[in-house]
Amino acid sequence: MSTTFRNFVDGSYVDGVAEFDKIDPVDGSLVGTVSEAGAETVDAAVRAARRALDGAWGRTRTADRVALMRRVADRIDERFEDFVAAEVRDTGKPVSLVRELDVARAAMNFRSFADTVASAGQDSFLTELPDGRQALNYAVHKPLGVVAVIVPWNLPLLLLTWKVAPALACGNAVVVKPSEETPATATLLAEVIAEAGVPDGVYNVVHGFGPGSVGEHLTSHRGIDGVTFTGESSTGSAIMRSVAPAVRPVSFELGGKNAAVVFADADLDKAIPGLARSTFLNTGQVCLCTERVYVERPVFDDVVAGLAKEAGRLRLGRPDDPGTTTGPLISRVHREKVQSYFDLAVTEGAEVVVGGGVPDLGDDLAAGAWIQPTLWTGLDNSHRVVREEVFGPVAALIPFDTEEEAVKMANDTDYGLAAVTWTSDLSRGHRVAQRMRVGMSWVNTWYLRDLRSPFGGVGLSGIGREGGLHSLHFYTEPTNVCVQL
Ligand code: NAD
Repeated sequence: MSTTFRNFVDGSYVDGVAEFDKIDPVDGSLVGTVSEAGAETVDAAVRAARRALDGAWGRTRTADRVALMRRVADRIDERFEDFVAAEVRDTGKPVSLVRELDVARAAMNFRSFADTVASAGQDSFLTELPDGRQALNYAVHKPLGVVAVIVPWNLPLLLLTWKVAPALACGNAVVVKPSEETPATATLLAEVIAEAGVPDGVYNVVHGFGPGSVGEHLTSHRGIDGVTFTGESSTGSAIMRSVAPAVRPVSFELGGKNAAVVFADADLDKAIPGLARSTFLNTGQVCLCTERVYVERPVFDDVVAGLAKEAGRLRLGRPDDPGTTTGPLISRVHREKVQSYFDLAVTEGAEVVVGGGVPDLGDDLAAGAWIQPTLWTGLDNSHRVVREEVFGPVAALIPFDTEEEAVKMANDTDYGLAAVTWTSDLSRGHRVAQRMRVGMSWVNTWYLRDLRSPFGGVGLSGIGREGGLHSLHFYTEPTNVCVQL
């Protein structure tokens, strides 16, 4: 049975102006048809969001919004398996991964930001003037307004709720544009948000593409008050240009070319599986994934051999097969890009330790977007494949001799999202982690997240931070009130 993913505007599912197919990356079959919004649909969604803000939603008490966010989380839990099925169909990820990561985190995002908003205080200052008078300064935090939420395909529901939960908890209304590759869970979330009792117009979804399509219609719409975006750095740059005439604030979580540094004193029994996870999780399609591994020379061969063995243990296959560890890439188009980097690496002189091509998984999966987990040696920071984000299951392993050299090579990038340091020396762990020019610096672990901590990147990896109170800073506008006493 074919599904149609429709736009959600002002509490109703509506058709757009065209349709396009959503293809299953597992086997190339048709998942469903997506209704592409036109400029009018975007305009209707922005207007609906504004009406909601001007109406009852704009007057809700914080405590009531917090209760609503908890109800949304509960409703996600109740419909957990519906979300799992939708995310798996769109992405081809193993069911176990979607259960453990994507959908669990969606409910957690709503709960976490409900807690943050419920407990947030505000600045107040008692100002003492030279003549003995006093004034009280305090700030009221109002919602930013109509927030455009634009998200990618790699962790569709997780990244969507990471933005929608704080936005709604702070009292904003949103117009969401999911990736054209993953329309399902944003559409399903509309049902759940309505079932939880969030008023019409507060959560709207418009489907379609980026440039010249819905993405651009939305970011250039004068009715939006800000854009929160996760995706490629070049898209961030296009969105910045699009919002510039209206001078709207942006929060950008962009690409990465993340480094791991492995010192010879590291516990390799932990570091090697840790590196395998940070390189291959979600087929390398996590912005935080490691694509550069710098290894202290005495253990270089051991780490290369160990990681190659871990790569050999990965099982590519259908999402519902319990043995599957690794799904396909998101699409054939993305596979072409990844394969072009695999080919470029060879041209640039890489030694391919494992992988490097398209696996043969039988006729059933031949039309899917499969790619082999891949490791390279023989490269250095001068090579394009070590400088540009591939966004696939691949890492280049490069030896180093001193801590100074390792830090220098890790920081020699235009990106600055995440880094990992593997060492048994506590002081070195802190020292190196702090010197990494990134937003998130892990020591002896990776992707361990406390949702209250800041998340974001420097350089090409983004603008601003979200997470805990950092999200509240973006999704609210303070008005300072000064009262002479
Ligand atoms: P993408 O930039 O191609 O697309 C992301 C979203 O932006 C999609 O919804 C797309 O339709 C939309 N879009 C594209 N062009 C647009 C335009 N001109 N105007 C408005 N919207 C536009 O990214 P992707 O391929 O979907 O995702 C992969 C990228 O996302 C990688 O670079 C990855 O590193 C990055 N990412 C970053 C983080 C982070 O937190 N830093 C998290 C996940 C993914």
